[in-house]
Amino acid sequence: MKVVLNLAKKEQKALFVIFGGTGDLAQRKLYPALFDLYKRGYLKKHFAVIGTARRPWSNGYYRDVVRSSIDGMVNSQSQIDEFASHFYYQSHNVNDVDHYETLRVLADKLDQDYGLEGNRLYYLAMSPSFFGTICEHLKSQGLTKTTGYNRVIIEKPFGHDYASAKKLNDEISKYFPEEATFRIDHYLGKEMIQNIMALRFGNSILSAIWNNKMISNIQVTLSESLGVEERGGYYDTAGALRDMVQNHILQIVALLVMDRPDSYCAKDVRKRKVETFKALKIYSPKEVAQNFVRGQYGAGKDMVAYREESMIAPDSMTETFVAGKLEVDNCDMAGVPIYIRTGKRLATKATRIDIVFKKDDDSLFGGQGLADNILTINVEPDTGIDFTLNTKKIGQEFATRQTNIGYRLTKEQVAKVPEAYERLILNALQGNSVNFTHWDELEYSWKFVDAIRNAWDQEDLPVDYFPNYACGTMGPQASDELLAKAGHHWIF
Ligand code: NAD
Repeated sequence: MKVVLNLAKKEQKALFVIFGGTGDLAQRKLYPALFDLYKRGYLKKHFAVIGTARRPWSNGYYRDVVRSSIDGMVNSQSQIDEFASHFYYQSHNVNDVDHYETLRVLADKLDQDYGLEGNRLYYLAMSPSFFGTICEHLKSQGLTKTTGYNRVIIEKPFGHDYASAKKLNDEISKYFPEEATFRIDHYLGKEMIQNIMALRFGNSILSAIWNNKMISNIQVTLSESLGVEERGGYYDTAGALRDMVQNHILQIVALLVMDRPDSYCAKDVRKRKVETFKALKIYSPKEVAQNFVRGQYGAGKDMVAYREESMIAPDSMTETFVAGKLEVDNCDMAGVPIYIRTGKRLATKATRIDIVFKKDDDSLFGGQGLADNILTINVEPDTGIDFTLNTKKIGQEFATRQTNIGYRLTKEQVAKVPEAYERLILNALQGNSVNFTHWDELEYSWKFVDAIRNAWDQEDLPVDYFPNYACGTMGPQASDELLAKAGHHWIF
């Protein structure tokens, strides 16, 4: 595999137009990410940001908001002030065509003032219902008529099923081609998720055993200890399947089981991922019942049940937990069960991947029972790898014990790891879409998820089916039983 590394620390010249500039995402993630890029020298003199939203803020007030969003990230007040001076606010209603004219005039002026070479990155940090309108007016009002690039970054959720995702994509693709559309899945910006390819394709000992002859099963867990918090309104219409499985979990699964790409470039990596999504077995309703489990959390110590959370209906049937067994029909991995699990109010917050290898024949050791060899990729909160081997127990007798030869990133290393948004925004500036989701990936992932959702919608569950797991546990018992049926168990 040819590895194309982009190590050049080249200053990026661009205008950012952030739709939803007053919102939570902009303040919590985007401004800190831009500041990190600034501190690392990817953004210097030649960048400007226009924040747009409905509120009538002044530039001064907007810059104060930006300053407070990066509070504590650096001690140098002059650096913060210099960074904030690149930010401009434009009050804007995305449905009002005239506002795009005002936006264009400001964009052209900043382009001149900062020497941005006509490069523009539009970040749509607002409800997807506006995406089509924004893209249409950006084009019709001439904002994209520049000498540089025009790219659009889009946040999740990208649709709520295949039909709505396709409609959204059709609206956007009328104005921005696929190569200029960067669909964010922030899990793809995480250090240890990006490490999957390095591990799989950078080590001949792992490439050689990454197949159905050697792997017993794969487990992907994205567990959250928090409840639905203030996202109740959205979450109750989505549920864990759409919110976590369609995007983050399936993206991780694709990286884990795809065939080796011809090169580390977006075209080749995405080609392999699309092949993997196409090879995912789409379940019939009967198979969904056999292979998928859903749950909803009940009350726990000092924690209310999902149905008692704000903005949640008291008889809500929305799932806050999903576990499932996936099958992928590609040659190397055919027949390997891929267990996935995600949920809210679980025992702990963690993202981890466990690759469980088949046990060796233990007859040599008198059938004393060998432990599983497990390769664990700890994504968060710990960051590192565990790999368990059977080794000899110290002492006179010949017995084996499980030994871990893993590593953890040190505190100093963790401090240097770029945040997912920082990394992904830099990728978008560089025009590198390897860590973004292609429409074809979305198409097949939605079709897979729709089959599960439709099967569930046909089931007539009694209202008292939920809640079926208590806060602070790892989900309903049926999740453990799903693995037990095949002689497996959750490693985590
Ligand atoms: P938010 O409600 O905090 O912000 C929405 C922004 O859109 C505000 O700036 C608001 O003024 C603006 N807006 C709304 N209607 C407008 C209109 N007609 N014209 C102009 N501006 C308008 O939402 P958020 O949490 O920042 O999320 C934004 C998007 O990002 C959503 O689609 C969300 O699903 C997605 N997202 C958010 C997060 C997160 O951590 N907040 C994470 C992943 C995805």
